[in-house]
Amino acid sequence: MTENTSAYHPLTVEEAINVARTVTNVFYPTDELICDEIGDGNLNLVFRVRLAHSSESASHTPSLIVKQALPYAKVVGESWPLTLERARIESDALLFQGKLVPQLVPHVHYYDATLAMTVMEDLSDHVIMRKGLIEGNRYPLFADHISEFLAHTLFFSSDLGMNQQQKKWQVQRFINPELCKITEDLIFDDPYTNSPNNNIDEQLLADHAKLCADHKLHLEVALLREKFLTSTQALLHGDLHTGSIFITPHSTKVIDPEFAYYGPIGFDIGAIFANLLLNAAGHEHWSLDDQTREEHRTYLLSTLCEIWNRFDEKFRSLWDEHGVDRISRTKGYQDVYMEQILQDTVGYTGSKMIRRIVGLAHVADVGSIPNQAAKLRAQRIALQLGTALVKSNRRIRSIEEMFTICEHAY
Ligand code: ADP
Ligand code: MG
Ligand code: MG
Ligand code: MG
Repeated sequence: MTENTSAYHPLTVEEAINVARTVTNVFYPTDELICDEIGDGNLNLVFRVRLAHSSESASHTPSLIVKQALPYAKVVGESWPLTLERARIESDALLFQGKLVPQLVPHVHYYDATLAMTVMEDLSDHVIMRKGLIEGNRYPLFADHISEFLAHTLFFSSDLGMNQQQKKWQVQRFINPELCKITEDLIFDDPYTNSPNNNIDEQLLADHAKLCADHKLHLEVALLREKFLTSTQALLHGDLHTGSIFITPHSTKVIDPEFAYYGPIGFDIGAIFANLLLNAAGHEHWSLDDQTREEHRTYLLSTLCEIWNRFDEKFRSLWDEHGVDRISRTKGYQDVYMEQILQDTVGYTGSKMIRRIVGLAHVADVGSIPNQAAKLRAQRIALQLGTALVKSNRRIRSIEEMFTICEHAY
């Protein structure tokens, strides 16, 4: 039987090299290339193709990333099938974002539907933000960069910033039911019940039992889920945690938008905030002394406020300048709209914190803490703050109110 190389199959490193060589002109035909599979996720292969004789440190030697979707989740073997369509969604989302904020996403060289594969810029000179924050590093330009990403991608995909008929067709292009289902189960359902998907440390079982019995909390989660299910406010990244952000002191790049879909704007902002606050909790362990811990937390909380304030300012000014119609300029509308985004942000921040402590997938900031006592303290901080944020979301009127709740949690 001859192998059909044009049909979908997981690429070998040799094939990834071949793809990188033939679909771009980044390399010379005579270049000797090497390739490593560097993916750390469960759903995709990530190949890095580069010159055989380049030194790791040289940042301007040519290299490329080939990301390929697997038709199943790696973590559970082949038993959890997942659509390859998400590779198309990821590539389309990167192209959409790349038109609006090219400096903040990897450049896409090529996309192949059959192989569910995107060839993109290699960002290996950046570090994954989660790792940088665990190390206690600071990124003074991050608030400006991420607020720029959020304001532009969210405004120009919404009914405020694009033609409303075109937008409906775009909503259709980003229907992403299978990946949304993962979010719906792992964020809004499992953490509040005794689901076998949960991953709960023994010492936290009593805390989790309280969560399962907290009906006031469940009502807020039901409302947040309803909005996630029904809102088509803007095109979201959909998985905007600090593991989807590549960073240096000078540059920020957002990767991995395979969960992109039309949903509530606060969901993306809440993902960022939750991961900053989870990192702050993790510094129960990662900071070596109280002063360092205090300073790092102050940095994270002020970054959170700065992101909101810059986002608010940028989104409003895009609206004033590029709003597509008269009705959106109705007096008072903008203030109501921004306050609703803030409340949603608070709610999604809280629900994302909770799920990273008791749900299936934890974050390294807390989950990889080797000292059991420190880990338990971090987990309880995150659970209590997450719960407080979810419960208060509909009462919040300003970022200062959110800040005050966060400040009291540590
Ligand atoms: P997944 O959807 O499986 O989580 P990601 O897109 O997040 O895949 O990529 C997984 C890992 O592969 C990243 O954490 C990073 O280490 C590496 N990676 C992904 N894209 C790039 C890129 N453009 N440049 C360099 N490394 C990358
Ligand atoms: Mg990953
Ligand atoms: Mg991903
Ligand atoms: Mg990822």
